[in-house]
Amino acid sequence: MRCPFCGAEDTKVIDSRLANEGAVVRRRRECLTCAERFTTFETAELVMPRIVKRDGSRAPFDEGKLRAGILRALEKRPVPTERVDDAINHIKHRLTTAGDREVNSRVLGEWVMDELRQMDQVAYVRFASVYRSFQDVNAFREEIARLEQEAAPSAER
Ligand SMILES: [Zn+2]
Repeated sequence: MRCPFCGAEDTKVIDSRLANEGAVVRRRRECLTCAERFTTFETAELVMPRIVKRDGSRAPFDEGKLRAGILRALEKRPVPTERVDDAINHIKHRLTTAGDREVNSRVLGEWVMDELRQMDQVAYVRFASVYRSFQDVNAFREEIARLEQEAAPSAER
């Protein structure tokens, strides 16, 4: 780290501590040439990838829109708000750790379905039927049958 006072390249860290509940590392540095001291802050850069829509246009990730879509699927379903928050955090985590600068809206939709499937099957089917815009009634029936099969083993015991 170059010294901001004299431009020398050799500076040493004399103190290092966490700030902002661990989200920031604050370092106190001293220049080996002019002995001036200065502070640097280090944070992780979490850049949300842009979303590639069906028509090929790009848009910034919109958390409000994501939440609205999930809540629409969950309308009148017995799912606590904390579960919705968790789901949104999972999805955001997947977005930031994917490491891609762009994520296809279809991939994002699959992630929403992953969350909904675990939260509430009715909401999942609602969302999937809109999102995947099931090409025909058979595709929709197959999905329902698959869900019923998944649920069946525990019900029979
Ligand atoms: Zn200096």
